[in-house]
Amino acid sequence: MTNIPHNLAQLKQQIHDLEIRYHRPPGSVFLLAVSKKQSVEKIISAYEAGQHAFGENYLQEALTKMSELNNLTIEWHFIGAIQKNKTRKIAEHFSWVHTVSDLETAERLNNQRPENLPPLNICLQVNISQDKNKAGNRIENILPLALTCKNLPRLSLRGLMTIPTQKNIFAEQCAEFHKMSELFQNLLANNVKIDTLSMGMSDDLDAAIAEGSTMIRIGTKIFGNRF
Ligand SMILES: *Cc1c(COP(=O)(O)O)cnc(C)c1O
Repeated sequence: MTNIPHNLAQLKQQIHDLEIRYHRPPGSVFLLAVSKKQSVEKIISAYEAGQHAFGENYLQEALTKMSELNNLTIEWHFIGAIQKNKTRKIAEHFSWVHTVSDLETAERLNNQRPENLPPLNICLQVNISQDKNKAGNRIENILPLALTCKNLPRLSLRGLMTIPTQKNIFAEQCAEFHKMSELFQNLLANNVKIDTLSMGMSDDLDAAIAEGSTMIRIGTKIFGNRF
């Protein structure tokens, strides 16, 4: 059996140690628990241990979990590939979407965000490794996209997100994340007020925190293997 409270406590300690080591302010790295292909029992176990933000990749799976867990106050983040015909449900049910990579998707989410909810928090997904198999927009398209998204009233542009090509060497992981940090600074310099750099997963969170991540998305390290 996976001991989720234990894993979470260990991970929190690790995040704290990394913040100190890399001269990041304590508490500056937010933990998003990625619960895709994990049971509702495991989500409840994490919730009871104090974890209230969860990320899901598959809309139908997420909606089923939301209705089973509707007595809990969970902040849900959508972190999966967005199919155009699913934007309405995403806009209706999530607080955050990390995987916006084109204007059409942003406009659909903006138009479909219900009036009674606060603006939808979004991150623009960057294909930082210029990898044909990865989602996200190219680096040079991000600033113009951000400048447009910032004017969409039902969205709150919060920052950037990436999933780099998997690398096993720390310095190579850092190099990819460093490019994200530079892009983040470049947006700030162009008066795009963002506060979120969503990067780092179970296997590369050290490098992500070293390079300025403000939100790591962790699944396996908390919940064990997925079904
Ligand atoms: C699955 C997933 C994660 C978590 O991955 P782990 O390696 O299990 O920590 C993070 N981000 C995204 C976008 C994912 O799809």
